[in-house]
Amino acid sequence: MSLAAVGIGSNLGDRFANLVAAVVGLGAESLLAGVSSVYETAPVGGPEQGPFLNAVVIIETARPAAALLQSMLTIERARDRKRLVRWGPRSLDLDLLIFGTEAIDLPGLTVPHPRLLERRFVVEPLLEVWPEVALPDGTLVAAVKVEGADPLGVYPFPAVSAPPKGGGSGVSR
Ligand code: ADP
Ligand code: MG
Repeated sequence: MSLAAVGIGSNLGDRFANLVAAVVGLGAESLLAGVSSVYETAPVGGPEQGPFLNAVVIIETARPAAALLQSMLTIERARDRKRLVRWGPRSLDLDLLIFGTEAIDLPGLTVPHPRLLERRFVVEPLLEVWPEVALPDGTLVAAVKVEGADPLGVYPFPAVSAPPKGGGSGVSR
């Protein structure tokens, strides 16, 4: 069994529902070992586009990384993911960040994800659910300073909104 970290993101359509679909899809084939908070983040690179919701899911899987990537692409397609512009807006993006202690360099799959350490919107949720996560060479991700990018920061996204002020639901508390 390998412990893997998958970054999930959405900035098109019902962003929160897209992330939920990713968690459910990953959980259908692997054991869910952790799900981070959801963060709202400014887009990095690509054309002008709306803000993302991002999170990180930790799974335990018996499958090889390449098979996991295929499932991840299927989950993206099920949420109507289109690849139109590189780093453009997307309904759902799943990135394999870490796969056990493996370093993988295949034509369609590089692990650890090559831009992992440049992206606060990935590193912050990753460390929230897997503080001791390490790169294949043993370097602790927590010990690496994330440079540049995400100038607007990474904000917790309130998944469950507060009840309206002054009641209105008819339920007394
Ligand atoms: P990005 O996630 O960088 O915005 P895309 O999602 O459009 O870009 O590109 C995904 C492509 O990158 C996939 O077709 C996949 O084969 C390839 N890829 C390489 N390494 C990874 C990885 N670790 N996780 C996800 N996709 C990867
Ligand atoms: Mg991707």
